[in-house]
Amino acid sequence: MFSKILKYDIYNKSKTEFINYIRGFDKIHIISGNPEVLYNGLYDNSVFEGCTIKNSVIVPDGIGVVIASKIAKSPVKEKIAGIEVMEEIVKFCVEDKKGIYFLGAKQEMLDKCIENLKNKYKGLIISGSHNGYFDTENCEDILDDIRKTGPHVVFVAMGCPRQEKFINKYMNSLPANIYMGLGGSFDVISGKLKRAPKWMIRFGLEWLYRVAKEPFRIKRLGVIPKFLLKVALNKNYKA
Ligand code: UDP
Repeated sequence: MFSKILKYDIYNKSKTEFINYIRGFDKIHIISGNPEVLYNGLYDNSVFEGCTIKNSVIVPDGIGVVIASKIAKSPVKEKIAGIEVMEEIVKFCVEDKKGIYFLGAKQEMLDKCIENLKNKYKGLIISGSHNGYFDTENCEDILDDIRKTGPHVVFVAMGCPRQEKFINKYMNSLPANIYMGLGGSFDVISGKLKRAPKWMIRFGLEWLYRVAKEPFRIKRLGVIPKFLLKVALNKNYKA
């Protein structure tokens, strides 16, 4: 069920199988494993601190990770985009009448994201929400709000590694079953930031679209060849 890439166990079945898989957990942290997250995690322990195979699962989010899995001779079945997992989770929460807490992004994007989801998924229960601009070391008010509202899922869209650190630090003291870091997904759902056209996603070119839209990302792309090289050489790294 998992492919080994460097020190990581990456979920290697289909997205549909993944959605069934996560429903069996009492508590789980879903990590969108793109090359940037995985590469940085090799050097910054705090990204994956506290993550174990028991309470966390990494999905191959990005064509770079799909290629890496082939280089590592442990191929994953397909790319599993975080934002698509998010939508599937929303769907089963609506069916099961379970609440979701939305944490992250700027207030305006967050509000619009929630509004769009409520329009698309009738009956969606929003347990609560908070923007992503706060001190994660001093956020008892937000943690209390999550405890009080008792969501089934907490979506955290504050970019990596901020969102992963937040989840690792607090998930065990919170009541929700599913925690997922979602990067800029609230911005995309708000409609203010477009996702790549379907054909680009199909050809593994979503990264190109994102760089064209947000040129500051070009620097971050440099991580992909470095990550692939690391996998090819499989040299020692600081674990
Ligand atoms: N963000 C946040 N708090 C912060 C910094 C960023 O909530 O302190 C939000 C930001 O508004 C945006 C998302 O986190 O919605 C950043 O997404 P990005 O695209 O950088 O993440 P990636 O998908 O690249 O991990």
